[in-house]
Amino acid sequence: MATDIWFFAEHKDGNLRKVTLELLGEAKRLAAAAGGEAVAVLAGSGLGGLAGQLGQYGPDRIILLDDPALAEYRTGPYTNVLAVLVAERKPLAFLFGNTALTRDLAPRVAGRCGAPLFSDCTGAAYRDGALHFTRPMYGGKLYADVTGAAVGQPGTTVFAALRANVFGAAQATGGSPAVETAAVAVPPDALWPVVKETLAQVSGKVELAEANIIVSGGRGVGGADGFKVLEELADALGAAVGASRMAVDNGWRDYKYQVGQTGKTVSPTLYIACGISGAIQHLAGMSSSKCILAINTDPEANIFKVADYGIVGDLFQVVPALTQEFRRLLAAS
Ligand SMILES: Cc1cc2nc3c(=O)[nH]c(=O)nc-3n(C[C@H](O)[C@H](O)[C@H](O)COP(=O)(O)OP(=O)(O)OC[C@H]3O[C@@H](n4cnc5c(N)ncnc54)[C@H](O)[C@@H]3O)c2cc1C
Repeated sequence: MATDIWFFAEHKDGNLRKVTLELLGEAKRLAAAAGGEAVAVLAGSGLGGLAGQLGQYGPDRIILLDDPALAEYRTGPYTNVLAVLVAERKPLAFLFGNTALTRDLAPRVAGRCGAPLFSDCTGAAYRDGALHFTRPMYGGKLYADVTGAAVGQPGTTVFAALRANVFGAAQATGGSPAVETAAVAVPPDALWPVVKETLAQVSGKVELAEANIIVSGGRGVGGADGFKVLEELADALGAAVGASRMAVDNGWRDYKYQVGQTGKTVSPTLYIACGISGAIQHLAGMSSSKCILAINTDPEANIFKVADYGIVGDLFQVVPALTQEFRRLLAAS
């Protein structure tokens, strides 16, 4: 229906990704306001178990795209089947998480449908008969209110990618949504790229973009070895370790851990910035964190302007003391 809100139910290793439940929560809210249904689009191969998992969180409907051609994510087949489905059914909106996978997928599907895509949205609302999205601009200094009605033709689906960890996740309340298996036809010229090998991530550590807590290090950490104290704190808290661009450019951490304008955008519940000055390009990637703790020897450091809590001190004294205290408190709780 033209008032339905669809969302792309991303999954990994047989489990729904956390951002999928955030999309579902938002789709339900927007669909209730628009008078439509919250519809999950679940793509892959052998999806029965995942559909059951997803159903517990209460979408109104699940559309399954279940086919061996979709067994692993590939740009061509996924773009093709989603674009065909949207063109046939024209929902009001199609929501994606702002993940690496959907950064490849969502613009292509939107492009194929001749529709706008609003990326990295931190707010969404349905009012005056149109969907509105909030997008941070200029590194989070301005927030733009953008609406599909202004840029799309009437009847055009609006695509939006929502930032992870910003929207409230749907809770498992039980439910038995209608599950529909849609036809999948992937033309041979859409079978690209050819995947020769998939390398699994070596560590089972928390993924940066979805982490609830991030301990991040900058030039103040002084070297690759300096990150050990941050890793100990992260282990104690079940947190991910991030880095500023200076730490990455110096070869102390891999680029995949970089937070900021040219790295990842994160919105954890707690961001602990250690030896990071707070350059605008770093703030662009983490200023929407719910709580920021900064540890820096320089009381004038810019990071203290955005921090909720600040500790002026040497991170090599402060961080181990925090680790010890957190371990003690967590063991007692
Ligand atoms: C186009 C462009 C894109 C960019 N993209 C990014 C990006 O995505 N992410 C990003 O981070 N940067 C990015 N930058 C770089 C950015 O401008 C800054 O140079 C960078 O963020 C600084 O990193 P830093 O805070 O680690 O280092 P610095 O600015 O050198 O700060 C180090 C801080 O550590 C403190 N310190 C030193 N020793 C200690 C200690 N023992 N204990 C506690 N504190 C200590 C110092 O007081 C200082 O405040 C970008 C720049 C450009 C031009």
